[in-house]
Amino acid sequence: MTRHLYTPGPVDVPFSVRMAAAGPMISHRGEEWSDLLEEVKGRLGRLLDVEEPVVLLPGSGTGALEALAANLLAPGDEVISFSCGTFGDRFREIVSRRGAKVIALDAPRGEGFRRGHIREALEKHPGADALLFTHHETSTGVVNPLEELLSEIPADGPLVLVDAVSSLGAMPCRPSHWGIDGLASCSQKGLLAPPGLALVHLSERGWERAAKGFCPSYFFDLALHRRFLKKGRPQNPFTPPVSVFYGLAESLRLLEGFGWDAWARRTRRKARSFEAACEAMGFELFVREKEFRSPVMTALEVPPGKERPMKKALEDMGITVAEGQGRHGGTLRIAHYNPGGWPEVCLLAGGLFGAARECGIDVGDGFLDEAFKTWEREGDRSC
Ligand SMILES: *Cc1c(COP(=O)(O)O)cnc(C)c1O
Repeated sequence: MTRHLYTPGPVDVPFSVRMAAAGPMISHRGEEWSDLLEEVKGRLGRLLDVEEPVVLLPGSGTGALEALAANLLAPGDEVISFSCGTFGDRFREIVSRRGAKVIALDAPRGEGFRRGHIREALEKHPGADALLFTHHETSTGVVNPLEELLSEIPADGPLVLVDAVSSLGAMPCRPSHWGIDGLASCSQKGLLAPPGLALVHLSERGWERAAKGFCPSYFFDLALHRRFLKKGRPQNPFTPPVSVFYGLAESLRLLEGFGWDAWARRTRRKARSFEAACEAMGFELFVREKEFRSPVMTALEVPPGKERPMKKALEDMGITVAEGQGRHGGTLRIAHYNPGGWPEVCLLAGGLFGAARECGIDVGDGFLDEAFKTWEREGDRSC
């Protein structure tokens, strides 16, 4: 049976990426390796529009978050954590294990933060050393309007640390322009590569902070990684996951070739069209307010007790999706990172319709009509 992976990480990787990842092992101290690293460094630099190199560490998104905490924070630091769900809570837990004093602020269910929340928090905690944000909260499908939120923070204000694990590549993210000091991401979501790499980018201020502090992790010592990356011929301090790098280099070639902005618009177009189908069937979207609604993933509410059976019914058709998480259960989460277009929207909507009917949920038809109206409205020639 044909399998379709629509979990919000890992994502289905294109055929050429899989083939690239099967390339021969090479020495990571040789010229060929430095060339590959140089290429990946250049492509990621253009994606983020940054000068400082993106550091690639063996690991996953959580590893990248851990690297930020280890390098940019110290025990006793006062950190305000803005959380919209499970992943915001995880980042909070990571910094508290680093010994930071955490001030926890939680967005209401299914919502993100607004400028007023940031202003208020800064006034109330003028001594804060750092702020934590999640760009795209994958447990709920909330996207925070980061550019707008961060414009409230003065340039000499607290360090801004951002979990961009599920946004990078699939939606615009400009750390230098938006004022992000530490950005964490991974290879297996918006970048369409296999799992295995944690990505970290620091601002100039972030690197200064890292140089002043003591990093308790040898493996995740970002200054060490940066020294190796900045050599005339870039290298890694430790053995890198070569196969994952091969895959990532190829996916970056594909995505950059398509154009990052056009790619993001295409992803959003699919998400919006699928949502229109869901609503036409009678499902409610977990995120009620459009301004917070994810352009890369749909979280849809299912009737109580139907989450498991629906996931199973879809699985039986060859479609893998994710259930809700933690305190944000009762949903199905379906990602739109994959490269497909309109046919993929139909596959997902049709699959959902069939699964719902099989599970005794009375869903309406006519959903393709609604989805296609949105598809046409959201489209432009480049996507
Ligand atoms: C997936 C995800 C993580 C965790 O990433 P892993 O690669 O599983 O460690 C963290 N934050 C967000 C927002 C995510 O979507």
